[in-house]
Amino acid sequence: MRKKIVAGNWKMNLQLDEAKQLLQEIKALGKNVSDVNLIINPPALYISLFKELLENSVIALGAQNCSEHESGAYTGEIAAQMIKSCGANYVIVGHSERRSYYHETNAIIAEKINRALAANLSPIFCCGELLSEREENNHFKVVEQQLKEGLFHLNEKDIKNVVIAYEPVWAIGTGVTATAEQAQEMHAFIRKVLKDFYTEATAQNCSILYGGSCNASNAKELFSNPDIDGGLIGGASLKAADFLTIAQSF
Ligand code: PEP
Repeated sequence: MRKKIVAGNWKMNLQLDEAKQLLQEIKALGKNVSDVNLIINPPALYISLFKELLENSVIALGAQNCSEHESGAYTGEIAAQMIKSCGANYVIVGHSERRSYYHETNAIIAEKINRALAANLSPIFCCGELLSEREENNHFKVVEQQLKEGLFHLNEKDIKNVVIAYEPVWAIGTGVTATAEQAQEMHAFIRKVLKDFYTEATAQNCSILYGGSCNASNAKELFSNPDIDGGLIGGASLKAADFLTIAQSF
């Protein structure tokens, strides 16, 4: 049985007081959620404090990014080891905002994946096509290339620690969600690519999350599909009640 996961990507939102308040609300409501792994990815600056505040909670923490370097003179960067040492167990790698605004290539993303795994963090590897790529019917090819160049250098043992998030770029933060059929079709494709490259068991055990304007109203329809194992949630993760409704949508 693969893990059901609902992960919140808070992005660059919330001052410390607001962030603490939201965390406490999610912590309280999260007690009603069972069988779902809840992960919060706040700004990295907050992870250490959140770790303390989440004592006795099953909610896990992740960062939104890590450096492709191990350590050293990289001003402003945060190493995977640092993230781990502050109490996180996950890190988002290859988010489309990083790919587009910070020019992260598949090769850089592959390095970040290596750093994350070396630090004992589970990467949440994001992939997904642009609207123009879907319109040109290239979406499967694009996602397959992202997987092959960013992730499939891993061996059978390491790939088991990776969570994949399919996030069509045209659906992120736009209010336009992929239909359940579009999402399921791509998730099934990703699982097939995993099976062809690794093994059936690896494909079946890998959690594949959907991300892109997933909210309290559409999560149930999305999560009812056989290959959709949960969601990576942006905007709707900033409201505790919505985030928890999504987590109860399986
Ligand atoms: C995201 O940024 O990972 C995301 C899915 O954002 P949103 O839910 O706001 O579309």
